[in-house]
Amino acid sequence: MSHYQKPPELYDGLRLHQNENTGGCSPKVIEALSALRPDQIGFYPPYAAATDAVARYLGTTTDRVAMTNGLDEGIMALAVAYLRAAPGESAREAIVPEPAFEIFRFDTAVAGGTLVQVMPKPDFSFPLDEVLAAITPRTRVVFLTNPNNPTGVAMPLDAIKTVAARVPNGAIVFVDEAYAEFAGISFIPELPSFPNVVVGRTFSKAFGLAGLRIGCLVAAPDTLDPIRRAVPVYSVNIAAAVAIIAALQDLDHLQNYLKQVAESKALLYAACDRLGLTYVPSSSNFVLVGAGDRADALVQGAFERGIYIRDRSTEPGCAGRMRIATGIVEHTKRCIAVMEEVLCAAR
Ligand code: PMP
Repeated sequence: MSHYQKPPELYDGLRLHQNENTGGCSPKVIEALSALRPDQIGFYPPYAAATDAVARYLGTTTDRVAMTNGLDEGIMALAVAYLRAAPGESAREAIVPEPAFEIFRFDTAVAGGTLVQVMPKPDFSFPLDEVLAAITPRTRVVFLTNPNNPTGVAMPLDAIKTVAARVPNGAIVFVDEAYAEFAGISFIPELPSFPNVVVGRTFSKAFGLAGLRIGCLVAAPDTLDPIRRAVPVYSVNIAAAVAIIAALQDLDHLQNYLKQVAESKALLYAACDRLGLTYVPSSSNFVLVGAGDRADALVQGAFERGIYIRDRSTEPGCAGRMRIATGIVEHTKRCIAVMEEVLCAAR
């Protein structure tokens, strides 16, 4: 399997291709970073206050939270902990309903697991029966994302419960909630009844902290234990630990952004209708837009005008589709104007 292809380092235009927060973090985060002292940077970082703030925000307890250097690190640690076969054991299986965050595939390969892909339905609704049918005695991880990336489609919490009830002993269901704030739903309140479910969260998206790299896993302490062993001891740096406390003290900033995202999505849907493009109604901060055979020209034309959107046409079920982040309304308007310009020029 090829390695994850990082998108090119494009920072001089409008970045709508990595689902980031287009407005950036709260100013309170900048204040907290500016107040860091040399001795704080000189020492290995303490985590108690940050973990406490995160647990309170998520409505859980600190023993159920493992802080990680971005959720990416949490996913890799989870794959290493649950997908590496013991000597003499046949390969462990990871189920991935597609289209999905590509990292699940790559981390499964790194851990030596066998990837079991479940292909999407035409409307991208969660393929529960197909996921259940893919479970075998060798299943060790089921990778779910709610709401999903790159479709933005949310799945019912009951479907997660059904999968969790059907996986074999020793297997876990991973619920990636990178975009949960935008959907307003979470499996975290259900975790006490589902010790084999691990929820992943990130502060990269709704909180605009992607550059600092901070996320976490939430699960029963015994389920988290093997994952904690696979996370380097001080992988979250002091800047991230300080920033997350400040970010969680400014929930107005978050609420404001959620409003901008909702308005941006409505504007983009209306533009798609005008321009004869399709879209998948999204519970997230991005929209999967379908342009059929105009997709390539649209992504290229936008790129040439400094607007970066993500071609997803090679992902399963996504031919002719691109993913566009919907953040600050002004940014979305700029993107729509460029889409109109490119599509009209191509007529
Ligand atoms: N999960 C999903 C579904 C994502 O889309 C992303 C970010 N692209 C991540 C995890 C990783 O987030 P982080 O920035 O916290 O590593």
